[in-house]
Amino acid sequence: MTLPQRLVYQLIRSGRATSQSDIARHLRMPGNTVHGLMGRMAEAGLICPGRKERRGRGRPIQHYRVRRDGTVLAVRWLGSVWQAGVFSGESARGQIQTRQSPLVTDLDQALEALRGLRDAALAAAQLEMGDVTGAVVAINAVRGEGGYPLSSSVLPWLREVGDAPFSQALGCETQLQLACGAVVPELRARMSEGVRSLTILNIGDGVSAHGMSLDEEWGGEHAWRGEVGHMVVEPRGPMCGCGHRGCLEAVASGPAVLRRVKADVEAGVRTALSAAVLSGGVQASPGSLFDELERVEGEDAYAAGVVEDFVDRVAWAVSAVVNMAGPDVIVLSGYTLEERETWRQRILARARDMVLFGEEEDIRVEYPRLGAEEYLAELSLTYDFRAGDAAVQRA
Ligand SMILES: [Zn+2]
Repeated sequence: MTLPQRLVYQLIRSGRATSQSDIARHLRMPGNTVHGLMGRMAEAGLICPGRKERRGRGRPIQHYRVRRDGTVLAVRWLGSVWQAGVFSGESARGQIQTRQSPLVTDLDQALEALRGLRDAALAAAQLEMGDVTGAVVAINAVRGEGGYPLSSSVLPWLREVGDAPFSQALGCETQLQLACGAVVPELRARMSEGVRSLTILNIGDGVSAHGMSLDEEWGGEHAWRGEVGHMVVEPRGPMCGCGHRGCLEAVASGPAVLRRVKADVEAGVRTALSAAVLSGGVQASPGSLFDELERVEGEDAYAAGVVEDFVDRVAWAVSAVVNMAGPDVIVLSGYTLEERETWRQRILARARDMVLFGEEEDIRVEYPRLGAEEYLAELSLTYDFRAGDAAVQRA
């Protein structure tokens, strides 16, 4: 591909601009140049027409998507919650598979769980391994430094391992996706409401924030992954996977809250949560603890206190995002937060008290609009077929 073609390809693939006029505006190139460029790309089989958008009367706007003929296994694995689906084009083949587990502590556990999930997704799609072109696995990590390929505070053992074993374990070219792929589609889902900037605050096995503003030059997506989650909120608090003490992630992530409740129960605290953290010696999953917290907080003083502390921490994180970035919308995501409407309202009320500047009405805190299937479909679209071909040719 030529350089302009690469730019167009990336814009379409990321979803930042998918119609000829949007692409021309983003690249500041004349419309007819872009028209010619995209015509050649379509002929070469790189892109193809996607959805049509109707805006009032007038001609519908044609959007384009990256052309893909293969079938991709998409897995979102952030630590203790696992989701997978098989996609051809943009459509799912069979039901999306979801699992919960304790936080995985080594590579063997991770690969075994991944293979189990792959088999379930293939069975649901009525496909076999030979039908799959490749896999994309979203994980909680960033590209490492100092000779280590990966770095993760949630899965610290990944640092010693890197991304090589994943392709071998899944039996196909496997690409790790380290970016939070939900920012662009969540923003796109609200554009018609005039939303221009958005930050996703994710609290699951880790704590991270990712944002994007349409008013910046393209490529303006930023991750505060290593920042919001690793701001120190309790200087003498528990150790964090990053090596510091008392980071937000070490006190408010799913595994952190699970560790705290477990320690208290073992120390003799009486609470309805004991069953959820000590279920027959089997390690509990943080996700199920949060469901239990929400269920019993009305009648269990200890659980109410844990929820209160959690809501406080999240509100603090929301106010930090507002003060630093001031996005139009903050999306609360992750299994600790999603679908707990009364918690969202409490977080919002508390965050309003903490924000330094601006009008109260300015804070808009919502849940994601993308369901698991839409998220995985977006993830599957990031599979780079060219990289896959290159790997096959090398082998
Ligand atoms: Zn940390």
